[in-house]
Amino acid sequence: MDEIRSDIQRRLRGYEFRTFSVGLSLPEGMQEREDQLRAEYKLKGRETIKAWLSKSLSERVARATHRRVDKLNPELAVLADLDASEVRLNARPVFIYGRYTKPAGVSQRKTFCASCRGGGCAVCGYSGYETKASVESTIQKRLGPLLGSKKMKFTWIGTEDLESTVESSGRPFVVEAKNPRKRRVPRGFVSRTGMGQIRVSSLKLLPSRPLKLPGFKFRTRVAIESTSTINPEDLRRLSRLMRNVVVEFRRPGEKPAYK
Ligand SMILES: [Zn+2]
Repeated sequence: MDEIRSDIQRRLRGYEFRTFSVGLSLPEGMQEREDQLRAEYKLKGRETIKAWLSKSLSERVARATHRRVDKLNPELAVLADLDASEVRLNARPVFIYGRYTKPAGVSQRKTFCASCRGGGCAVCGYSGYETKASVESTIQKRLGPLLGSKKMKFTWIGTEDLESTVESSGRPFVVEAKNPRKRRVPRGFVSRTGMGQIRVSSLKLLPSRPLKLPGFKFRTRVAIESTSTINPEDLRRLSRLMRNVVVEFRRPGEKPAYK
């Protein structure tokens, strides 16, 4: 038991967590053997070996690490596979809200390398992605090491294209960092890359996966052609009509976005 406990503790080093749970995977046949014994001796109501083992393991780990056990929603789930003598860890993802600004010409998302289309080649340094900095790659490069997370999933609030400029207050995003070793972001975090072109700031840790995404405002320029001459009165009428209307924003190959 103490051997498993020290195994677990060794693996926990480098992980930031306040709560944890311990799950067990027992050697094959152990559960069946227990069921047999229970049937044979008509044992009822007593804790199963598995439940007893994981409970006492949890207690030992809690004492050694000064962390709390939370079976339902732990920050770190420990699975001890007793058969394979292996400890697997799974950290609950963290969700981070932030804002970014960028000039036109910088893309929001990572795009596949034009030469290999994601396969990896000499042009892209075998990454499969365009080497030019995008907002996504910039955030990933800075936040990945900070959170000890190798996989991030972005939620962009509103779509934009390469030519969009994002100014002043910035456009919000939410990023999910999977299996993070760290669960905090530094206060007052600001990152500038690409010669100060992309700026990421206002990072905030969200308590959980956001159910509702924050709204934001954007300004767009519309080119309108008319077959007849437009007089100032028409323009005034048009601007009255345009007040509080719902505009559908379509881009090829994407779901329509609404304003
Ligand atoms: Zn390539």
